[in-house]
Amino acid sequence: MDLVSDQEFLIKRNNNTYEVVIGLEVHAQVISNSKLFSTSSTKFGAEPNTQVSLVDAAFPGMLPVINEFCVKQAIKTGIGLKAKINKKSVFDRKNYFYADLPQGYQISQYKYPIVGEGNVILDMPSGQKEIGIERLHLEQDAGKSIHDIDPNNTFVDLNRSGVALMEIVSKPDLRSPDEVNLYIKKLRSIMRYLGTCDGNMQEGSLRADVNVSVRKKGETNFGTRCEIKNVNSIKFMQMAIIYEANRQVDLIEDGKSIDQETRLFDTKKNETRSMRSKEDAHDYRYFPDPDLLPLEISDKFIQDIQTDIPELPDEKKKRFIDKFKLSPYEANILVSDIETSKYFEAVIKEADVKLATNWITGELFAVLNDKNLEISDSPISANNLAKLINLIKDGTISGKIAKTVFEQMVDTNENPQKIVQERGLQQQSDPKALEELIDKVIENNADKVSQYKSGKDKLFGFFVGQVMKESKGKGNPQLINKILKEKLNG
Ligand code: ADP
Ligand code: MG
Repeated sequence: MDLVSDQEFLIKRNNNTYEVVIGLEVHAQVISNSKLFSTSSTKFGAEPNTQVSLVDAAFPGMLPVINEFCVKQAIKTGIGLKAKINKKSVFDRKNYFYADLPQGYQISQYKYPIVGEGNVILDMPSGQKEIGIERLHLEQDAGKSIHDIDPNNTFVDLNRSGVALMEIVSKPDLRSPDEVNLYIKKLRSIMRYLGTCDGNMQEGSLRADVNVSVRKKGETNFGTRCEIKNVNSIKFMQMAIIYEANRQVDLIEDGKSIDQETRLFDTKKNETRSMRSKEDAHDYRYFPDPDLLPLEISDKFIQDIQTDIPELPDEKKKRFIDKFKLSPYEANILVSDIETSKYFEAVIKEADVKLATNWITGELFAVLNDKNLEISDSPISANNLAKLINLIKDGTISGKIAKTVFEQMVDTNENPQKIVQERGLQQQSDPKALEELIDKVIENNADKVSQYKSGKDKLFGFFVGQVMKESKGKGNPQLINKILKEKLNG
């Protein structure tokens, strides 16, 4: 979970205060075995040009055939974004020339996207903020140019050519790098819950064009925006926004104006630079692709998908708070990643909710962090963690001993019951045996006993500690407390 501040992101220069306005065009690769208009595989990491059909390579006369599964994935995502699903949408050709685009155009949706307006909720420390979604449309990915294999030649890998992307366009509702961080993570979380995009940014499954403008605080009109193309990590998005916003403020303070342009973020120099200005902006000459009919979907088609939508993070969070009395903070941590929520739900099927929350967000997360592991690769299974919690709950071991057992579980993946048995870690809960230890401590500390009896209450902790020590850490603390009180006060 990211701790974000609620402080406004403002830039001050001279006597002026500026705020930043951000809108994102996120490109999310659709989870699908085959491409948007061909049957080629989409598997990541294959040898170059081994997953290219004649359609993907744009051989003359080849015809695209829409992949129904990708359409379903886009609708699913639209439902997850609480968005309007358009029963009629149109595929257009977006014309431009590039070496990695064999068709000479990209099939995309322009005027009539498959998904219309929706929203994404950000959980800010002070409450929720809604970010508007403008649209979601389906389009093909291009191939990849490889410039660093040969000093004189560029190579082209068409494996990615034709892979389905969802372009998710936000309204200009974001106001800070922190909000962008939360927005991308929330979007990714929703798509992972839905199984529509794996959100893997290292593999390029999620990348964004970042639109940035600035305006004086209090102003109602938007400033001129610049679009930073194809940023592939949250960190880089944030760095690019900070750089770009400051650049624009400097220009305005110098009495200059902002040119609407497309820029690139140089991750090594931490700066954006101009790629092309609006004047030489592409005229993509969009027109409906004559090889594809308009996409018309029925109510039934949408309803069938609707019934397939799992519980999403916002709803799950609400349920966790209502049903299990978790704090919003705890609920956020547990739902933000679908695997974490599954793990949590598996543990609480068999064990106490409060303890499960504490052990997962405390000890378990610390170990996963330390070992750089995903929860799905946790060295401790949900089942074994539940067993450990039950050993605490039924008084077999103390919380303190549980930590020792937990450490061994991390190393050996063993059943905690077995560890407790083998190492004889069971809590001493036999009142008779504890009484013997208590009598011994009282006998050996006659001076302290009389001090206690004459009013030095604080000494109680000392007696508890001594008895604990006598029991080698295994005495049941509640019982020790109870018997000690009876003996000392009686
Ligand atoms: P284009 O294809 O020209 O980039 P889109 O409609 O696809 O246009 O995307 C525009 C993006 O820019 C949206 O995410 C929108 O929220 C954002 N945007 C529009 N105006 C501004 C502005 N003044 N400042 C920042 N972002 C903006
Ligand atoms: Mg754009």
